[in-house]
Amino acid sequence: MQETEKPYFCPNCRSNRIKFSIIQSYSQRILKDALTGTVQQVAEPEQIQAEEPTIQCLVCQYTGNEMRFIKQAEHQPRQDSPVTPIY
Ligand SMILES: [Zn+2]
Repeated sequence: MQETEKPYFCPNCRSNRIKFSIIQSYSQRILKDALTGTVQQVAEPEQIQAEEPTIQCLVCQYTGNEMRFIKQAEHQPRQDSPVTPIY
């Protein structure tokens, strides 16, 4: 099972399990003209495989390692019926 298939839970706002962005890096080869700097050729972008993707919560904009979101979801699994918080 891929990590990205695991449930996420935002460790910051603790209200979002649904809406996220996966922030990934891309590498795109170009050829430039040495004198003018004009881009002559552009290759197809290639995704750089990150060890651990960066995830952004689309509710509070918190950005962190994917593991933080997975751990938070494991720590606080989704309840079928809301649990009354104890303060
Ligand atoms: Zn959040």
